[in-house]
Amino acid sequence: RIAYVNGRYVPHGEASVHVEDRGYQFSDGVYEVCEVFGGHLVDERRHMERLQRSLRELRIREPMSRKALSHVLHETVRRNRVRNGLVYLQVTRGVAKRDHPFPGDEVEPAIVVTARSVDPRKAGRSGEKGIEVITVPENRWPRVDIKSVSLLPNVLARQQAEDAGANEAWFVDPDGYVTEGSSTNAWIVDRDGQLITRPADFGILRGITRTVVVELAEKEGLKLVERPFTVDEAREAREAFVTSATKLIMPVVRIDDAVIGNGRPGSIATSLREKFHTLAELDS
Ligand code: PMP
Repeated sequence: RIAYVNGRYVPHGEASVHVEDRGYQFSDGVYEVCEVFGGHLVDERRHMERLQRSLRELRIREPMSRKALSHVLHETVRRNRVRNGLVYLQVTRGVAKRDHPFPGDEVEPAIVVTARSVDPRKAGRSGEKGIEVITVPENRWPRVDIKSVSLLPNVLARQQAEDAGANEAWFVDPDGYVTEGSSTNAWIVDRDGQLITRPADFGILRGITRTVVVELAEKEGLKLVERPFTVDEAREAREAFVTSATKLIMPVVRIDDAVIGNGRPGSIATSLREKFHTLAELDS
């Protein structure tokens, strides 16, 4: 495997960043994960736009032009011979003597890109079975709309899910409303077949997969309302599912001790999952 690190393609086993990288010391950086489907990057344009926004919000300079970055992404995918999988991109504020304020303009942002294959049969199997979710109190900072590498609450929540024999954790705000998953956006389908997902203005990351599913639902003539939903509503829902570039549209069959629907992936989630790639933007 090959990784791209600050201008060079290096063997994955030797790919490293400096001990004084601010991403390492302060989690002072942002990232993107983009699906690779049939050798194509999925929704690259939207991922690049979100990256630019994350960088702008944190006042980190863009490490290179969007065109150059696109080239690096494709080149990393090509060099790793990824047909189906993921490409990961991380930008940090760079390497500087450890001190909280931003370093001077002479410090260049640092960039890392990796790519790996994911066996589509394995991914498909979990889609057929669905996943189980636990709920945990929301304990993240208010700027989760920025895709920062500062993911400690997400890591802890996800581990709590694993320890409970589940696959994902949904954060729940003090009013009982689900915000999102540790690495996914959360959705339910109510008894009338209406899709419900939290608005992406604040309190969640605006998932690219979420955006595509909103468009897909419209195209399919499904009713959709963007509003917060409670854990109680979710437990009573006809269907539930999560979305992300990694899990795509993944049915949820259990929330804590509540079985969702008949405990099998719901028909709407399954049909959206099958149709997802017809609407996602693929480029060469
Ligand atoms: N919320 C969080 C907290 C995430 O980490 C992710 C995945 N990066 C998502 C939602 C889903 O976003 P996307 O569909 O762009 O992968």
